[in-house]
Amino acid sequence: MKYTDFLGERVSLLGFGAMRFPTVKVGDKTEVDLPLTEKMIDLAVESGVNYFDTAYPYHRGESERIIGKLLSKYPRESYHLATKYPGHQLMDSYDPGEIFEEQLSKCGVDYFDFYLLHNVYENSMDTYLDKRWGIIDYFLEEKRRGRIRHLGFSSHGTPENLREFLERTGGAMEFCQIQYNYLDDSLQRADEKCKILDEYGIPIIVMEPVRGGKLATLPDPCTEKLSQLRPGASAASFAFRWLFHNPSVKVVLSGMSNMEQLVDNIRTFTEYVQLSAEERELLGIIAEQLKCSVPCTACRYCTDGCPAGLDIPSLIEIYNDLACAKSLNTAMRVEFLPDDKKPSACISCGKCTEICPQRIAIPKVMSKLCNILTTIPSWRDISREREEDAARMREANKH
Ligand code: SF4
Ligand code: SF4
Repeated sequence: MKYTDFLGERVSLLGFGAMRFPTVKVGDKTEVDLPLTEKMIDLAVESGVNYFDTAYPYHRGESERIIGKLLSKYPRESYHLATKYPGHQLMDSYDPGEIFEEQLSKCGVDYFDFYLLHNVYENSMDTYLDKRWGIIDYFLEEKRRGRIRHLGFSSHGTPENLREFLERTGGAMEFCQIQYNYLDDSLQRADEKCKILDEYGIPIIVMEPVRGGKLATLPDPCTEKLSQLRPGASAASFAFRWLFHNPSVKVVLSGMSNMEQLVDNIRTFTEYVQLSAEERELLGIIAEQLKCSVPCTACRYCTDGCPAGLDIPSLIEIYNDLACAKSLNTAMRVEFLPDDKKPSACISCGKCTEICPQRIAIPKVMSKLCNILTTIPSWRDISREREEDAARMREANKH
């Protein structure tokens, strides 16, 4: 197993993500297949994996309890446990202490090695920084008390969001978790995010290295070309190996859902073979083929004349992302906009297309974005359900 030095800790480069445990029924996240999950965790530990990443809402609030229970047979100092504070979830008020104590209790531990503010982006940043809730101050105090070893954040936001948050938190954040893979290097501007994090000396944890499975199951012609370069190697292994070039990457999280994925990943991170120039070039070509991009250059010529006052380039960026692969985290960027800033506020006047140097049919893109959004569940509904589940569990635990 390849290890890295992550803030002075020796961690396995392969991290076990606890948001996609195998389930009893395919597609139903509620009932986790516990015997299989236990076997997978045991094999991961035997193979040298020592970083486990969960979060408050994963598996409808059950992930923390499951990972805590399955790791409890191992000495506490032999593994690193990471979880996240759900300040990105819509709530009437935020009580970091209540949630933190609940998380420690659910995981059955008395400290977390790595603790993250979950998904800092344009709509959650103010919550995290709001003095009324004192979220960051609370966790800095827990760090001083030793109940958090390292404090950081995850983000699906823009590079601008990352820079702003790092500036506004003035050195409090030690590490950052971002979506990074050979497709999002340009699609989600992960290359820019890495540069900013390097500038601030912030090490990187990678989430979605195979983009929710999209890079693990490529179209047949792409798979064939990869197989010619490395017979027998999975498409996922290429995506992981693409990340090996960046020394700032300290952990690559994989949300493994079956034994085959785990065995394949263990092989990839144990052999630890860098991509050849030829392999790297081929992945670049595949990334271009996978994009279904509207070619907006973000010049913003269109925005001043828009009678609806829409942030057109941002909405196109979101469209490009969702057209490539549906993602709740991307969709919530629209959901939390005021109604008059959503793509549905476009009145199809066409003024933007007239001025756009790329001649993009923007009203059509806005309409397609609206259609895509109707096919993605609402984050508010999911948050509410999770909150209700958590409240029910808190009540049940009292008795
Ligand atoms: S077509 Fe829509 S996006 Fe374009 S200027 Fe008119 S209202 Fe704005
Ligand atoms: S004018 Fe065209 S290219 Fe420029 S930001 Fe607007 S949509 Fe994008």
